[in-house]
Amino acid sequence: MGKISKPMSSPIITQAPPGLQGEGFFATSLDKAVGLARANSIWPLPFATSCCGIEFMATMAANYDMARFGSERLSFSPRQADLLMVMGTIAKKMGPVVRQVYLQMAEPRWVIAVGACASSGGIFDTYSVLQGIDKVVPVDVYVPGCPPRPEQILDGITKIQELVKNESLRRRNSPEYQALMASYGIQ
Ligand code: SF4
Repeated sequence: MGKISKPMSSPIITQAPPGLQGEGFFATSLDKAVGLARANSIWPLPFATSCCGIEFMATMAANYDMARFGSERLSFSPRQADLLMVMGTIAKKMGPVVRQVYLQMAEPRWVIAVGACASSGGIFDTYSVLQGIDKVVPVDVYVPGCPPRPEQILDGITKIQELVKNESLRRRNSPEYQALMASYGIQ
């Protein structure tokens, strides 16, 4: 019989960004304050097509409780989401749909490939399966596993939070970012 694990839920302590402080004041730069706010209020769009999606359901439930990271507000509208989470096998026919959802999201936006299938096609090295969603959209974080455990999905979320926190407000206008988008044929 399976063992029921103890709930993990505990509050996450958010650290203040680097800055100057003294009695009654704290000063930091605008991009650090914006990064802190963004990183702790990520709205994910779950694009779940198969088994990895079930692990995501566990990640949202009380034991793992993604709300502790400020990400309990899922969005099924791309225009009100800033993190695309692709979880499951993506058939080549679905590739254009993943891309369209990504294009409908406003900047700044981030992408996690959850599990072996979304990251690389997984065990499905076949004519019909996309060998990784990075063939159609840029990916920020890859979560390994088949399926990944909820802890691994949470680890992916915290890696995205680190990226978000430390991203310059101007990154999206940088030549490197423009070149990345251009390599995907995105203006
Ligand atoms: S990585 Fe494994 S668990 Fe996840 S969708 Fe693929 S086959 Fe299913």
